[in-house]
Formats: sequence, C-alpha cells, structure tokens
Amino acid sequence: MSNEPNTNVNCTVGQCQYHSVGNFCSLDSISIGTHESDPSQPECVDCNSFRKQSIQ
Ligand code: SF4
Repeated sequence: MSNEPNTNVNCTVGQCQYHSVGNFCSLDSISIGTHESDPSQPECVDCNSFRKQSIQ
C-alpha cells in the first residue's frame, strides 16, 4: 500500500498505520463516526479508518 500523503486529509495521529509525512493521511478517503449519542464538539467524533501502527 502506498504511503503517499493525501494533502486533502490533514491528520496528526502518528500512531495510525495510515499516517503520512507532513501530518497528512495516506488514504484516498476516510470514514468518520461518533461514539456519542448527541455529538457537540470535535472530541465527540472519531476517525473510524484508524488502525494501530504495527511495531516494526
Ligand atoms: S486513517 Fe484516520 S487516524 Fe489514520 S492517518 Fe488517516 S485520518 Fe488519521
């Protein structure tokens, strides 16, 4: 899988296997969701495309 940065998707989650250089995501598209019943602030939403980076 390519790790080229998608400059349309900013992300600072360095622990994700899809994170790329320059604080971008490498995926073409991502899935966003919420763990709240009534989200009201940024902390309420999640990137559901996150996958823990495996230890090299
Ligand atoms: S999949 Fe989500 S958490 Fe992972 S780098 Fe992309 S935007 Fe960030």
